[in-house]
Formats: sequence, structure tokens, C-alpha cells
Amino acid sequence: MKVVLLSYTNDAERLCAAAARSCYSPDPASEILEDVEEGKAGTFIDKVVGMGHHSVIEHASYTFSLEGVSRSLTHQLVRHRIASYSQQSQRYVSLLEPDYVTPETVRSDPEAKKVFEEAMEKAWEAYQKLATVVPVEDARYVLPNACTTNIVVTMNARELWHFFTLRTCRRAQQEIRTAAELMLKEARKASPTIFRDAGPACLRGKCPEGKLSCGKPRTELRFI
Ligand SMILES: Cc1cc2nc3c(=O)[nH]c(=O)nc-3n(C[C@H](O)[C@H](O)[C@H](O)COP(=O)(O)OP(=O)(O)OC[C@H]3O[C@@H](n4cnc5c(N)ncnc54)[C@H](O)[C@@H]3O)c2cc1C
Repeated sequence: MKVVLLSYTNDAERLCAAAARSCYSPDPASEILEDVEEGKAGTFIDKVVGMGHHSVIEHASYTFSLEGVSRSLTHQLVRHRIASYSQQSQRYVSLLEPDYVTPETVRSDPEAKKVFEEAMEKAWEAYQKLATVVPVEDARYVLPNACTTNIVVTMNARELWHFFTLRTCRRAQQEIRTAAELMLKEARKASPTIFRDAGPACLRGKCPEGKLSCGKPRTELRFI
């Protein structure tokens, strides 16, 4: 899996701080933006977001490319609705050679790995045969969830925060958790103040999972 932060809002923290300050000022945001100092933007964002005024960070957006991930992962990802997606098409891109993601649990168990690989081989054998008689868009129905794909996702900072809360939690499946952790790392590099406290709920207080809690706060994900 590869996660690349393709693009993000230039000067996101100053922009969000200026937008937030414009709510309380007689001056327009264009003038406020010029006055917002780099160092002070973070303090202001902390203050308003801490007060529950989360809409101000919706002005910053981040575009990631997730490459070599499974269709299982992308199915979970696209459930996050406040986002834009562009995914490699199985209608226009034929997948004649087997290309799939093997979960870690399967990889580490020789018996499971054997069963898994046999199933992949059979699926692709059927796909290749079907692709000679029907369009690939119909042949693809026999391909598995494990099938490799690429997807581009754009989320604003508020939605990314929500995504990180759910998907860096140990309750999320391992593959999407890994993707979310890599995305969090990149988002923190781009906007350290906005994403400083982002991550699973256990980084900020009590785990909301109740009886399903893993009981192991993910302190390793704390921003240093
Ligand atoms: C560990 C885990 C297990 C899961 N298991 C299942 C499962 O078994 N079956 C299943 O179907 N899904 C499952 N999901 C997916 C889950 O139910 C959500 O669909 C997914 O996490 C997207 O989150 P969301 O709906 O909060 O937020 P997003 O779609 O990212 O939206 C963000 C927020 O915007 C608001 N919002 C968005 N759309 C609406 C709307 N239409 N109306 C009102 N408010 C809205 C909500 O406040 C929402 O939290 C699971 C997710 C996780 C993390």
C-alpha cells in the first residue's frame, strides 16, 4: 500500500484562523488574513475548535492517493460521505493478471494462505475465460474483494478528523487502519495544529466503545 498526499489547501491554518476570526470582526476575511501571523493561527484555531466551532476547519481540504489497496478497503472508505472520490474503473481497466491484497492474518498462516491463493487463482482463471466472451465490465463480477485498486479521495479537515477517529481505532479493520494512520501522518505534516489531537478517541479521553473497547489506548499515535 502506498499513501500519497497529492495536494492540500495552501496555508490551511492561517486560512481557517482568518475565517474563524471573521465571525467576530467587523473586518472582512481578506483583510484579516493579511494580519494573521503564522504562530498565532494555531492558537486561534485551538481556541475556536476547542469551543466546538468545528465548521471553521472545513475550509481546508486534503487530497490523497491510496494505491495498491483492496476493493474491501475502498468499500469501507467510500462509506464516508462528506468526501469526493475517483476510483480506478474495473469497466475500463482490465485486470488480466492476478493482482490482489492478502490480509496479514492470512499471510502469516500457511494453511490459510494456501486456501486464499487457490481461491484467487480460480477467480482469475474464470475472469480471463469470461473476458474472451463478454465485456470486462461483466467478467469482473467474479473478481474478489481482495482485488487491488487505486483511489483518490478528497476530504475537508473536519471530515478527516472524523475519519481518523473511526479508522485509526483498533476496532477498524487492519488494512483501512494502516491507510488511516499513513494519512494522519501526512495530514499532521501539512497542518500540525489542525491535526495535533486527531486520531482514535482514546487519545483524547475515554474510549466510547464500552464493552467492545480493546482497553489499550493508542498512545503511540500521539503527536510528538
Ligand atoms: C469499526 C467499524 C465497523 C463498522 N461496521 C459496519 C457494519 O457492520 N455495517 C455497516 O453498514 N457499516 C459499518 N461501518 C460503517 C459505519 O456505519 C459508517 O457508515 C462509516 O463509518 C461512515 O461514518 P459516518 O456515517 O459517521 O460518517 P460520514 O459519512 O463520514 O459522515 C460524517 C458525519 O456527517 C454526518 N452525516 C453524514 N451523512 C449524514 C446523513 N445522511 N444524515 C445525518 N448526518 C449525516 C454524521 O454526523 C456523520 O458522522 C463500520 C464502521 C466502523 C468504523
